[in-house]
Amino acid sequence: MEGNVIFLLVSVVLLVLGIIFVVAEIESEEVDFFGPGALISLIIGVIFWFVSNPIQVLQSLELFVFLTIVILSLVIVLSGFSLILTVKMIKTRSKPPLEDAFIGGIGKSMDLIKKTKEGYIMYKGELWKARSDKTIAADKKVRIVKKDGLILQVEPEDPEKLFCNNCGAELNEETSVCTECGTNI
Ligand SMILES: [Zn+2]
Repeated sequence: MEGNVIFLLVSVVLLVLGIIFVVAEIESEEVDFFGPGALISLIIGVIFWFVSNPIQVLQSLELFVFLTIVILSLVIVLSGFSLILTVKMIKTRSKPPLEDAFIGGIGKSMDLIKKTKEGYIMYKGELWKARSDKTIAADKKVRIVKKDGLILQVEPEDPEKLFCNNCGAELNEETSVCTECGTNI
């Protein structure tokens, strides 16, 4: 069987393309077809390398062995790398970011939360540290508006209702003094 120079060139082009895809994958954060692209290019590149009968083309067994070792090592390392990136990409795509899963969720305040005092809320059976611009009394329903690391920013579930700035008690619209703590509104 004679060597096929064209197949050998196709192999080299695909391997180079694979390397470019891997570099592009590392550089870019938004475009995510580079990982799978690199995998496909590298694998087809190796197939073309062997199909081209490179010993005949190169006319040297030593050169063939040397290049085959170089190509296989390169492809194994880069494929492994792009495989990891591809799996990572699929995982992040199928799961919504953790932060988004909290926003809009309704929890329950465990103690008084004020602008000047962080408190705790219970959300889906877990205790979370929370802060709020409005005063919220203990045992009230709260809506999560933001997640800042491990601290949740919350607001009263019903933003139309009025609450005492001091103790967080629900106020009725006509009163000027909090019925719970006597603070002037
Ligand atoms: Zn009060």
